[in-house]
Amino acid sequence: MTTGPTPFPGLTDMHAHPAMNAYFWGRDLRKHYFAGSAFNPLASLTDFKMLREGDVRVLWSVLHVPEEEYFRVPPIRLLAYLTQGGRAILRDKAWKSTLRMLEEMEEQVDRAPEFEIAHSNAELDAALAEEKRVFVHTVEGGHQLSAGLAPCDVEGHLKRLDELARRGVASLILAHLFPNQLAGHSEAIPSDHQKILFWRLETRVDDKRGLTEVGREVVKRMAELRMVPDVTHCSPASRRQVYDLVGDRLPIVASHTGVQSLNKAPVNLSEGDVKAIAASGGVIGVIFMPYWLESSDPEDGLEAIWNTMRQVNEWSGGSWQHVGIGTDFDGFTDPPDDCHSAAELPKVREMLERKGLSRTDVEAILGGNARRVLRNGWR
Ligand SMILES: [Zn+2]
Repeated sequence: MTTGPTPFPGLTDMHAHPAMNAYFWGRDLRKHYFAGSAFNPLASLTDFKMLREGDVRVLWSVLHVPEEEYFRVPPIRLLAYLTQGGRAILRDKAWKSTLRMLEEMEEQVDRAPEFEIAHSNAELDAALAEEKRVFVHTVEGGHQLSAGLAPCDVEGHLKRLDELARRGVASLILAHLFPNQLAGHSEAIPSDHQKILFWRLETRVDDKRGLTEVGREVVKRMAELRMVPDVTHCSPASRRQVYDLVGDRLPIVASHTGVQSLNKAPVNLSEGDVKAIAASGGVIGVIFMPYWLESSDPEDGLEAIWNTMRQVNEWSGGSWQHVGIGTDFDGFTDPPDDCHSAAELPKVREMLERKGLSRTDVEAILGGNARRVLRNGWR
């Protein structure tokens, strides 16, 4: 496994959702709609224009299909019927929708000569050498693998995982917002978003629920296939089991998260989590959502992002080798007022320089570390 500083690939965001805009709202990513600092699910924060303005070089582009639980809430079901992507999800279920979303992203990127999708480290290196802006597919939520399969169908799940790897997917987030067939999850819907008009989303969190038999086999196969395990959204019990199963065979990431010393929510990482991820050679991507970063939920977020980075640095023995950014832009999140779209990401470099970090450390955080993880954990 390579350690130490990795050449800077350019600004890298380890978690953002342009694919949701492309797929659900039928949007052309070459067009910019609008970006505001208030939460607005219709804003477009990571379209091609925003990525270009922020000079983002590598984007871990998330394929995510919302869980069926959402569509049991009548207003959401109605909204789904009104959009092309929503109708497709109701019709196709999560697995087929994931593949369609992947294909949609490939088509969109094909139409933009400055952008490319990399399906392997070799393709990523080649695209960066040609000065392209590069998307790497990742998948958020094990439910997408499971749609229509029995909870004990190990072979069925592994076959689908193989297919994702074959199509170039670099990483899988095992859990998400509701119980799934792979892993226990943590609460990750802000309490005021759980109530939708007269209805309530039941997230059925059980912090003690760990990996299932299928989940364990999926994690083992990820190590064989070289797909980076992402423990974001996992319950504390599931996270511990992933560390035990993977050890240092593969870097583990938490692509978009905070730390429990600043907000003790179980979805955030504890000192033990940070140490285990660092020991695997992995990276913690700091989420750009003040609600999760600090319990005071400040309007501005850059200072909270810095405090989180500093904590990860301290918990991993004073190293900047395990810090990255995973904005979660366009993931129905409420971004910080002082850095609310991909176009504003250069502010993070300015902030880190102001805080006195060396160029080497700044570039590790902004892309070198994430590049190392793919180099060591992907094909
Ligand atoms: Zn997420």
